[in-house]
Amino acid sequence: MRPPLGPAGIVVDLAAIRANARLLRATAGVPLIAVVKADGYGHGMVACARAAQEGGAAWLATATVEEALALRAAGVEGPVLCWLNGPESDFAAAAEAGIDLTAHGVADLDAMAAAFAGRPTPARVQLKVDTGLSRNGAPRASWAEVFARARAGEKAGSWRITGIWSHFACSDEPGHPANDRQEQAFRDALALAETHGLRPELRHLANSAAAILRPSSRFDAVRCGIAVYGLDPAPGEATDIGLVPAMTVTAPLVGVKELAPGDAVSYGHRWVADQPTTVGLVPVGYGEGIPRHASRPGAPDAAATVGIDGKRRPIRGTVCMDQVVVDLGGDRPPLGSEVVVFGPPAAGGPTAQDWAEACATISYEIVTRIGGRMSRTYVDSEGAGS
Ligand SMILES: *Cc1c(COP(=O)(O)O)cnc(C)c1O
Repeated sequence: MRPPLGPAGIVVDLAAIRANARLLRATAGVPLIAVVKADGYGHGMVACARAAQEGGAAWLATATVEEALALRAAGVEGPVLCWLNGPESDFAAAAEAGIDLTAHGVADLDAMAAAFAGRPTPARVQLKVDTGLSRNGAPRASWAEVFARARAGEKAGSWRITGIWSHFACSDEPGHPANDRQEQAFRDALALAETHGLRPELRHLANSAAAILRPSSRFDAVRCGIAVYGLDPAPGEATDIGLVPAMTVTAPLVGVKELAPGDAVSYGHRWVADQPTTVGLVPVGYGEGIPRHASRPGAPDAAATVGIDGKRRPIRGTVCMDQVVVDLGGDRPPLGSEVVVFGPPAAGGPTAQDWAEACATISYEIVTRIGGRMSRTYVDSEGAGS
C-alpha cells in the first residue's frame, strides 16, 4: 500500500531561535537587538520575534516602518527599531506605536518633525551614520549638520535621540581593513555627537559576525539577524558558539525511476547518466525558492544535494519550477520517504550553508527566498510532548 505523502513544507523550531538568542546575549555580554526583517529571514517574523524575546532579546529590529508596525499589530511589545524609510513610511503611526525610527540625514529629520507636530510627547529617533558601507546613513561630511538638527529637535520636544548606529560592510572577513576604519569612524561620530549635546542610550554597530568576532564593536548592543536563526554569519571563521539552525525544509519522495546509460535528465538534457542508476523525484523547485543554479550545469559534482535515509543525493539536471530530480545511485527508497532539502545537521541532510556554497551565495539568501507553495509550521523542541 502506498504510504500517505505529506506535502513539502518548512518547519521552524522556535526553541532553536530562543536558544540562539540566549547564546548571542551571553557571548556578546550586551543587550541583543534581534533582526526579524524580511519575514524573519524567511522563518516567520512574528513567531521568531516572540521566541527571540523569550530568549532574552531586549530589542527587535526590522528594515521597514511597515514591518515594525506589523509587529505591533500582531501584539508584539517591547523596544522595536526600524531603519528603511520610503515615501509611504508612516512616521506618525510609528511614533504612536512606540517604535524607534531611524533618520539618515537632515531631510529625514525635517520630515519626522512635520509628522510629529502636535504629539504630546517626544518621539523616539535614532541616527544612522554612514561609516563606509555607502548604503544609507548620514555621510561624514553631514554629521555636524545632522547632529545639530537632531539636538534642536530634542530641544523643541519633537523627539529624543535614543540611539546612534552604523553598519559594517565586511564583518564576515574579520581581517578586512575596512572593519577598523569603520569602527574608528563610528567612534568619531559618537564623539562629535557628544559635542552637540546628544546623549543616546543605545550606540550599536555590530551585526552577527561582528557580535561574535569583534568584541570592540559591541558598544551598548549588538544587532543580530542570521545568527538568531542559527546560521553561520562568517563561514570559515571562528564563529562556533553552538548556534542551531532553526529551519528544516522537507518534501516527500514522489517518484523513483530507473535510468540506463545515455538517458538524459530534465530541461536542456544537461545531465546524462553514464551508468545504470535510479533517480528520485522531489516536488520542490524554483517556485518554492530552490535556486535554479543549484544543479550546477557543467559542474554536476558541485550540485546541491538533499538527504534521504541519511544519505546525500545530488540534484541531477535542471531545477524545474515545481520539481527536481536527484540521483539515488541504484537505491529505491519507498515513495513517501522524507527528503531533507536542508536543515540542521541533526536532520540528516545538507545545511542551508551547504546550499549556499553549491549556489555561490550566502545562507541568508537560501532561507529568505524559500517558500512559494510550501506552508510553514512551528515546533518547539523544548516543549515537545507538553
Ligand atoms: C540585516 C541587518 C542586520 C543583521 O545582519 P546579520 O548579518 O544578519 O546579523 C543588522 N543591521 C542592519 C542595518 C541590517 O540591515
